[in-house]
Amino acid sequence: MNKKGDVIEVDITDFSTDGEGIGKTDAFTWFIKDSVIGDRVRAVVMKTKKSYGYARVVEILKESKDRVELRCPVARPCGGCALQSVSYRAQLAFKQNKVINNLIRLGGFSREALEEVEIAPIIGMKEPWHYRNKAQYPIGTDREGNLIAGFYAGRTHSIIPWTNCLLGQKKNRIILETILDFMREHHISSYDETTSKGLVRHVLIREGKDQGQDQVMVCIIINGKSLPKSNILIERLKSIEGMTSISLNINTQNTNVIMGREILQLFGPLTITDSIGDIAFEISPLSFYQVNPLQTKVLYDKALEFANLTGKETVWDLYCGIGTISLFLARKAKQVYGVEIVEAAILDAKNNAKKNHITNADFFVGKAEEVLPAMYQNALKNGNHQQSHPDVIVVDPPRKGCDRACLETMVAMQPERMVYVSCDSATLARDLKYLTANGYQLKKVQTVDQFPHTSHVECVALIQRVK
Ligand code: SAH
Repeated sequence: MNKKGDVIEVDITDFSTDGEGIGKTDAFTWFIKDSVIGDRVRAVVMKTKKSYGYARVVEILKESKDRVELRCPVARPCGGCALQSVSYRAQLAFKQNKVINNLIRLGGFSREALEEVEIAPIIGMKEPWHYRNKAQYPIGTDREGNLIAGFYAGRTHSIIPWTNCLLGQKKNRIILETILDFMREHHISSYDETTSKGLVRHVLIREGKDQGQDQVMVCIIINGKSLPKSNILIERLKSIEGMTSISLNINTQNTNVIMGREILQLFGPLTITDSIGDIAFEISPLSFYQVNPLQTKVLYDKALEFANLTGKETVWDLYCGIGTISLFLARKAKQVYGVEIVEAAILDAKNNAKKNHITNADFFVGKAEEVLPAMYQNALKNGNHQQSHPDVIVVDPPRKGCDRACLETMVAMQPERMVYVSCDSATLARDLKYLTANGYQLKKVQTVDQFPHTSHVECVALIQRVK
């Protein structure tokens, strides 16, 4: 058995969920950062557990044919783009395989059973850069005390100075440089986590498109009640194209949580607008919102296609967030019921419905696994058949997937179709195992790359009732 400091030679055959390369020696599994499927590497052992361990590359003995040059000089220490050294084509193949492997390994589907399922090729981005509409940059100082903005080095709180992230919008750099210059000129301090002193903690930038027009939001998170000379900064930021909303967020707590609750408006409205398809969403600094709107549209169009609505259907949308999917569905359904645990998101959902003149969507706050069973029992009692027996149920749960109580009620409601939007194909596979054992059949799977260069995989599945 290997121990810390040993040197091993391994063929990399897989990626972990965090994008580390995975290889095996005998029955031992190694997680090796910065290695790529197809590489053969020499690595030094960092840490071992019973059946797996972590190692660091010392030499690449054979380069994978899927290796490409890193485009970003801070990709390694930042770690946000775990797959950047893999060609985009190979990234897509990896993601597609991961979904299929999870269906087999964790969903209990045989290869033959999957032959019966329509598994479409993954949909990637034409231009897989600058896709994110939201970025949060920590502000701090380097060893010499110079002000910097950038990213936390993977799993630490030391800031790598970098204002030109290739996943964010190109404008972010100008915005950050403008803020840093202003701070230098007016001797405004950055926050220091170790002493809890200093003013500026983070800069949040969000971007939207309202009927083709750019809308930019800048929110500066401060450890204090005001930003001195903020009128000077506002004037400078206003000259940046699309600048719509500038605000301060107050966070005086000694905490890892980036945003506080209180917001002070400095310029423009508190929200910006982003449109996905023909639906407009209002986004505040605190709202949850999808970070890749182009691919979100692709994913939700697929969900809508799978839901196959004609205008007569009743639909439950569980884990609905700010109602993004619900409002898409509502345009094509008779009635939509959304359920979401975060109250603020439900308020956004209701406002978004109003803003888009959608009157056939109702939203409920609470855990899906509690609200759904309770509403189901109630609807049964009151003879509200459309609520107790919807035509379609859509779910878009967080990574941990659906709670068993939620799945049980979904099955009891006997919808014709379920559409499962998933950000973790492992829990999707687990939940499909339950659903397919309880009167449902997996019909279609579509993977959509929402997060190029990261190891995240999103997909949508169509599940149909067996007659
Ligand atoms: N479909 C939404 C968001 C999906 S993300 C959109 O596109 O905007 C998953 C959502 O599930 C989050 O909004 C999260 O707050 C919510 N959530 C997490 N656990 C939940 C639970 N047990 N019941 C209901 N909603 C939950």
